[in-house]
Amino acid sequence: MNVALSKPTQYVEKFMKDLLVKNPAEPEFHQAVKEIVDSLIPCFERNPKYIDAMILERVVEPDRVIMFRVPWQDDQNKIHVNRAFRVEFSNAIGPYKGGLRFHPTVNLGILKFLGFEQIFKNSLTTLPMGGGKGGSDFDPKGKSDSEVMRFCQSLMNELYKYIGANIDVPAGDIGVGAREIGYLFGQYKKLSGTFEGVFTGKGLGWGGSLIRPEATGYGTVYFAQEMLATRSESFKGKTVTVSGSGNVAQYAVEKVNQLGGKCITLSDSDGTIYDPKGIDAEKLAFVMELKNVKRGRIREYAQKYKCDFLEGKRPWNIPCQVALPCATQNEIVTEDAQTLVKNDCICVAEGANMPATIEAVNVFLKNKILYGPGKAANAGGVATSGLEMSQNSLRLSWTREEVDHRLHDIMKSIHKTCIDTANEYGEPGNYVLGANIGGFVKVANAIIDQGLV
Ligand code: NDP
Repeated sequence: MNVALSKPTQYVEKFMKDLLVKNPAEPEFHQAVKEIVDSLIPCFERNPKYIDAMILERVVEPDRVIMFRVPWQDDQNKIHVNRAFRVEFSNAIGPYKGGLRFHPTVNLGILKFLGFEQIFKNSLTTLPMGGGKGGSDFDPKGKSDSEVMRFCQSLMNELYKYIGANIDVPAGDIGVGAREIGYLFGQYKKLSGTFEGVFTGKGLGWGGSLIRPEATGYGTVYFAQEMLATRSESFKGKTVTVSGSGNVAQYAVEKVNQLGGKCITLSDSDGTIYDPKGIDAEKLAFVMELKNVKRGRIREYAQKYKCDFLEGKRPWNIPCQVALPCATQNEIVTEDAQTLVKNDCICVAEGANMPATIEAVNVFLKNKILYGPGKAANAGGVATSGLEMSQNSLRLSWTREEVDHRLHDIMKSIHKTCIDTANEYGEPGNYVLGANIGGFVKVANAIIDQGLV
């Protein structure tokens, strides 16, 4: 039977076809856009003005993409050349805001996916921040501090022209932590002659905010806590699998522990550690030292605590009630999602950006498990960056309790936006639809209000 498609459905299908032709070889960008636009169809049905104003066509074209060479010398004086980007996607509701990623897989398509998602994530936080993302195919693994410093300085020699506290405010992401932000900020200051809130995730002694390092992991767990509460559940006594072992994973484990849950896995690109006894505070301190100071591999945890190391494996085969993917994109594929559902997992909250493929997300939605997409669940990181910007502008520092309280309130408010929007559109419990429409409407209205620019 040939079922006639509604006008918005036809429009979205044609829009996606054109996007693929116009942006070839950017599969992650296609995926991120598709995930959003498919769930916007009901919004277009009610608000055809967004189609008439060509909001989608306008919002998928970044305001600008800056791409440049980063030459640097290693400790043996050998010359290397990396490629770096800054994608300034949309400043409809505030200055461009989004992290920098240093990883060998970085390319324009990946940064466009991250920058595009960032627009709507930032909108959901309720704070005035536009969307952007940047990074380089530089791999900090195995590099000395001096090499990382020289690379950061060389990158900033170009990037400083395009950023500023009211223009574009980068932060960390994969491969960019406190050390890298220090070097980048130092060179920005040297070149521009200004000390301003141009980065977030800064050191506490020079403009950083308390709770910013914890914010993405804590926020993801706060979001999951809200999701669980809709089914009268909590973290108490729950078994939790976590992927990754970097910034987001570490603080997700810390918060789950505080709420009475038990985390049994962590991973990195070599494999997964499985500790059925749970990663308690002492073991987590070991992970933080291992990953943040010694820059070691997660397999060393298995050696130290005599538990299994699953070489080359991700954690999703291990039964759990809550899963927190906190490593990277597309780390949960269809089979993983099916296994999680089969093992009676009731909640998946994404600390990472787009860790589940579209097909995997559909498995979660079909089985009605609590599924919190990254754009909502991990928005606590950028929200606290927004709080860091506020403190910089006010030239004040809030206490740990105050920032944590604000973060918690923001995560509750994002959760409420998702729930209310999903209810309004007759899809209760669909956080994908709730987050996408909830984030989109504010940006779309701002674009219309500001004229054809
Ligand atoms: P880190 O660099 O601190 O940690 C990343 C972790 O993920 C490491 O354990 C790393 O292992 C693992 N990983 C990275 N790439 C891969 C890969 N291709 N395959 C398997 N494992 C991989 O980064 P963050 O914790 O900051 O970021 C993790 C995720 O959270 C990313 O998706 C990021 O975009 C997202 N995010 C981060 C925010 C933040 O505030 N930091 C805010 C919002 C989202 P290895 O060491 O082997 O590479």
